[in-house]
Amino acid sequence: MTDPLTLHPPTTLLSALCACIKTEIHPLSAAAVAQGSKLFGAAILRKSNLSTIIAHTNQEGTSPLWHGETWTITQFFAIPETKRPHVSECIFLTTHEPCSLCLSAILWAGFDNFVYMYTYEETHAVFECHGDLDIFNEVFHVAEGDARQASLDGREKQVRPQYKLRSGRLVATSFAELLAAIEDGNVQKEYVGLVEGVKRSYGRLSEAYRRNMGVE
Ligand SMILES: [Zn+2]
Repeated sequence: MTDPLTLHPPTTLLSALCACIKTEIHPLSAAAVAQGSKLFGAAILRKSNLSTIIAHTNQEGTSPLWHGETWTITQFFAIPETKRPHVSECIFLTTHEPCSLCLSAILWAGFDNFVYMYTYEETHAVFECHGDLDIFNEVFHVAEGDARQASLDGREKQVRPQYKLRSGRLVATSFAELLAAIEDGNVQKEYVGLVEGVKRSYGRLSEAYRRNMGVE
C-alpha cells in the first residue's frame, strides 16, 4: 500500500490532482452529463511525476456499472500492456469518495491507493447522491468509525459507517487530509482556496445532473 504523502509534498499532490480534475475530468463529465450520464470521474496518474495516463467519467448511459472509476479502470486496461505502467506505479484519483462497487473495483484491479475530492457527505449534499452510505449501512453493515476525512480541513469529527481507510491493501486519502498536511498556515489557506474553487466549478454540473436524475 502507498500513502501518496510519502511520495510527494501535499502541495505538489494538490496542484497536480486539482489540475487533472479541472482540465481533464471536468470537460469529460460536462459532456457526459449533457448526454444524460451521471456525474463523477476518475484518473490514473504516474506516482513518479503525477502525469495523467488516463482520465474518464461516468458512462451510466451505457451501463449502470460504468461509474467514473469502473469505466476509467476498464479504459486503462484497454491500453496495451507494453504502453501502460503497472498498477503499482500509479495513483488513483477520483472526484468523490468511491462507492462500494468502485472501492472494490480499485482493489481488485490492484491499485494500492486512491485519493478523492468530495466525501460521501459532500456528494450527498451537493449532488443528491444517497447510495454510497446507504449501501454501507443497509447491506455491508460496516461498523461505525471516526470519519476523520469528512471535512475540508480534516478536523471535523463525524461518526459514520467506515471502510478501513488504511490497511495492508490500500490507503485512502482525501483532499481534506492533503490540505491538513500543509504546515504553513498561509500556504494552506491558498490551497484551501484552490480546492474550493475546483469543487465549486465541478459542483455547477450538479444542476444538469439533477435534471437528468429527475431530482428537484
Ligand atoms: Zn461507484
